[in-house]
Amino acid sequence: MSERIYMSSPDVGDLEEQYMVAAIRSGWIAPLGPDVNGFETEMAERVGVDHAVALSSGTAALHLGLLGLGVGPGDVVLTSTLTFAATANAIVYTGAEPFFIDCELESGNMDPALLRQALEQLIEGGERVAAVVPVDLLGKAVNYTEICAIADEYGIPVLSDAAESLGASHRGNPAGSFGRASIFSFNGNKIMTTSGGGMLLTDDSDLAAHTRYLATQARQPVTHYEHTEIGYNYRLSNLLAALGRAQLSRLDEMIARRRDMRERYRELFAMVEGVEIFGGIDDASDNFWLTSIVIDSAKTGWSAADLSANLLTDNIESRPIWKPMHLQPVFSGARAVTNGNSQLLFGTGLTLPSGSALGSSEIDRVLSKLRTFSGATV
Ligand SMILES: *Cc1c(COP(=O)(O)O)cnc(C)c1O
Repeated sequence: MSERIYMSSPDVGDLEEQYMVAAIRSGWIAPLGPDVNGFETEMAERVGVDHAVALSSGTAALHLGLLGLGVGPGDVVLTSTLTFAATANAIVYTGAEPFFIDCELESGNMDPALLRQALEQLIEGGERVAAVVPVDLLGKAVNYTEICAIADEYGIPVLSDAAESLGASHRGNPAGSFGRASIFSFNGNKIMTTSGGGMLLTDDSDLAAHTRYLATQARQPVTHYEHTEIGYNYRLSNLLAALGRAQLSRLDEMIARRRDMRERYRELFAMVEGVEIFGGIDDASDNFWLTSIVIDSAKTGWSAADLSANLLTDNIESRPIWKPMHLQPVFSGARAVTNGNSQLLFGTGLTLPSGSALGSSEIDRVLSKLRTFSGATV
């Protein structure tokens, strides 16, 4: 069996090793330290916001972001249905109810018209909508101009789930700089990784301070342990922050490699009728985290599942685009406004190997398998 080719494996090498060894030798192990501060400063600069709080995961960042916006039991939080479960789970942790909004077909991102429809419906019904959490799907920034304008009209704060979109932008402004706060994930499969980690970014200094406080067990600033609230152990360790700083210094290079991979796929599938590269045109709204294709099986004669099974015969990983939250058994009772798009993308989309650590022989293996299967000829 050939060696497994993953969709998006960590791209970690000598530089990361150097940074981590230096962090260990510095003695800052327990667990905060100068690399956490440095990582926060560098991320805030990169994204152009005032404050960044390094946390143990993107999910933890969502949880604390929601708590910081005052979300709690009895509230409704509107979020994208086409996302990873973490977004919806974090809403449930607060005691609030997730309400799912379907997407635009081209990007898979929250449909502004449906957001407005849901807000009108809920507010008319006298419900308290506490936040809107749009998700930058697969690295493509949401249309924040419209989404934020609608949320503003109703006076509802936006928490941007930018877990997948570090390095992307919307109209010249970086992903992560929109809304009252935003979150990133540095999980192992994301565009850059701390093996596990996340971050909350905001221009609001009170929100940043409150997040830091809740992330360190809500300790009052006194020498004996004094607590007036329930806290969490959600901070990122100094060793992992060192890894993050090395990755951040390579972010643009890693994005460029993913972009090249997208171009290779685009060239190949230009010759296959019935296959489109998902996400529309390639521009700065995208960090090229994952490349997916959308298949019209009436034209191709094969489905996403057929192609996925074929890739697996050469040990190449591929997966459907996220299964929408409103179709998940665990959220079967949740409310949603749908237009069929997320379900269609789930049924017809396939995400292909997109990682920046793919070597040229691995890339050749993937492309040649795709060429043979799809009949694309050069
Ligand atoms: C990965 C991801 C998260 C969760 O991040 P973790 O660091 O894995 O907790 C949240 N939202 C989206 C959209 C993600 O892709």
